[in-house]
Amino acid sequence: MEYGDRYQHVPKPKFDCLLFDVDDTLYPLHSGLSGEVTKNIIEFMVNKLGIKDNVLELNAKLYKDYGTTMAGLKAIGYDFDYDDYHSFVHGRLPYEILKPDPVLKNLLHSLPIRKVIFSNSNEEHVANVLGRLGLEDCFEGVISFENLNSIKKTDLLDDENDANFKGSKRSTIPGTGTDVNSSSEINAESPKTPVVCKPFEDAFEQAFAIAQIDPHRTLFFDDSIRNLQTGKRMGLHTIWVGSSHKTEGVDYALESIHNIREALPELWESIERAEEVCYPEKVAIETPVRA
Ligand SMILES: [Mg+2]
Repeated sequence: MEYGDRYQHVPKPKFDCLLFDVDDTLYPLHSGLSGEVTKNIIEFMVNKLGIKDNVLELNAKLYKDYGTTMAGLKAIGYDFDYDDYHSFVHGRLPYEILKPDPVLKNLLHSLPIRKVIFSNSNEEHVANVLGRLGLEDCFEGVISFENLNSIKKTDLLDDENDANFKGSKRSTIPGTGTDVNSSSEINAESPKTPVVCKPFEDAFEQAFAIAQIDPHRTLFFDDSIRNLQTGKRMGLHTIWVGSSHKTEGVDYALESIHNIREALPELWESIERAEEVCYPEKVAIETPVRA
């Protein structure tokens, strides 16, 4: 008897990685945390950089043009320390307004697919958010500002830096120097920024290399339409979180991250199918006997 007759074929799941933004994706916009971030950014611009005029408009424009206000401020010539910016903007946030989310935790744990964080924020902020939501053990690794930008150049070859990504090879990361131009897609007349961040393609290329991601087999969750549209161009399957309608560059739209199962039941169905057809019967193994 052919062994093929004894086993049913188990189709390969369509996705082997789930890639998640953090802010306004893993928790809702109405939590208020992002509003606090904006307040702190405005305060940084006024008190630390001495910007007096049209601060709100400038913040909105830089965020729109460069993906993060920090990237925009660097592009237009402001000189400041990245750590100072992060500790001023994120270090003073009232994280206690985020509550544990056991529903999301259970959803994530029920999916035996690798899950990776891809955030423009610094790693301490990401850790604080995941900790408050109770999701710290849900992800295989985190790609954050520090991974995307070579501010720890001397540490780049340290194993410690790769700790979040078992088996990743730091040497495969393209363009880790500070000359990286992440603003190749903005208006040609706009000044370039040294910061690597979503929604620019080089940030995605680095993320794929760091976490060894095949974009064609990865679902990407983000609340930013520009991030999703770049991701779609890069081959990712895209999910717009916080919206109930699809648009160009969006494969699925979820009002809330809690709706994953309703929008993508196939994620669970393929797993259940694989479990059902694993061993339909006990296979007898013939042992040759020598007389
Ligand atoms: Mg976001």
